[in-house]
Amino acid sequence: MILDIRTLLVVSLLLSAMMGMALFLTWRVNRGITALRQWAFAYLLLAAGLVMTALRGPAPSTLELVASNALVGATPAVIWLGIRSFLGLPAPRRALAAAYGAMLLGILAFSTLHPDMAARVVVGSLYSVGLAVVSALDLLRAARGAPRTITGVTGGVFAAHAAFYMVRAALTLQTGAQPPLLEPTAIQTWTFLEAPMVALAVGIGFLIMTTERLQADLRHLATYDTLTGTLGRRAFLDMADGIFARLRRGGPRFSLLLLDIDHFKHINDSFGHQAGDQMLRAFAAFARDALRQGDLFARYGGEEFCVLLPDTGRDDARAVAERLRSGLRDLTVEHGGHRIATTVSIGVTESSPATESFDAMVAEADAALYRAKAKGRDRVEVYDGAGGRLDLASD
Ligand code: GH3
Ligand code: MG
Ligand code: MG
Repeated sequence: MILDIRTLLVVSLLLSAMMGMALFLTWRVNRGITALRQWAFAYLLLAAGLVMTALRGPAPSTLELVASNALVGATPAVIWLGIRSFLGLPAPRRALAAAYGAMLLGILAFSTLHPDMAARVVVGSLYSVGLAVVSALDLLRAARGAPRTITGVTGGVFAAHAAFYMVRAALTLQTGAQPPLLEPTAIQTWTFLEAPMVALAVGIGFLIMTTERLQADLRHLATYDTLTGTLGRRAFLDMADGIFARLRRGGPRFSLLLLDIDHFKHINDSFGHQAGDQMLRAFAAFARDALRQGDLFARYGGEEFCVLLPDTGRDDARAVAERLRSGLRDLTVEHGGHRIATTVSIGVTESSPATESFDAMVAEADAALYRAKAKGRDRVEVYDGAGGRLDLASD
């Protein structure tokens, strides 16, 4: 199949310009993702390079050759920089500058010292292969922890692109002398057909990777408390409802702890809100360390936290609560030259076949917690079926 190369070039450059604009506009509404700006820049560089390539005559000058290769060759380099930035990896600027410089020197040498179109194609192809391989490796490695994501698919596109350019280099070496770039040969036709397809696939890949990233950020925001990094109330209740539903179907029992820091308002009032925040973070970090992997620990709200202990009865739950309570007594935070300490009161309850809902369990743990407060704070109380708020008068 032989197609008109200049037409394919024009299609490629229009497509690259549009993709560059799309990435730029996406960056404008997601300025936190700098990779989008780098990718947009790369596509605009490509469009500019393709304009120069499309405009050059049958016997391009050395300047034209080097300038168009400088622009088109910068594209995969900037794309890779964008990928590294998107994935939070360091930018290997030195290695990139070396590869880019070597590619340009090669083009210059094979335009002036030994003018040889086939050698220029091989130099350009090997440079493209190298960058496509490192881009593919970074994306595929990043996708390993999350298979079936667009990150992995985009990595696959880069791998296919690398393979295509290996074949292009090999075929060019085999065929030897090449007609000018814009002559319609089979290799050129396939090269200029593949280019816009890869540009499109990669650009769309980047856009979907961005939405995947935003989705994950949203999920994280909805699941975790921003101050302490622990589970938030809503996510905790969703998970707890699931565990409660399993209990109803004959699943294992579990226990619930409700923790409330004592006189927390006093910390805020005496040392400031930031000191309070610092205490909340320290408390959460301490509790997270003290608990087991499968325990669900969440910030229930304000200075209240909760723990769901799967497969745990009330005696073991009381022991865990005691460990948390006594451990917290040794916890201090430094703020503004002050050492601030605090204590915690904990209410404990265990699931039973008679419990109607998880909400009812929260009410039980709350009742036990209320009793711990009433009995002087810094203590653990276990719900015994009777100790509700109304019974406090008899304590
Ligand atoms: P008690 O021993 O009875 O639990 O007394 P308390 O002072 O701990 O309880 P109270 O409910 O009166 O006050 C809780 C305080 O927690 C009031 C609120 O301003 C503060 N608080 C809630 N959320 C945050 C937060 O995110 N940061 C800080 N610094 N304070 C918070
Ligand atoms: Mg409270
Ligand atoms: Mg409190």
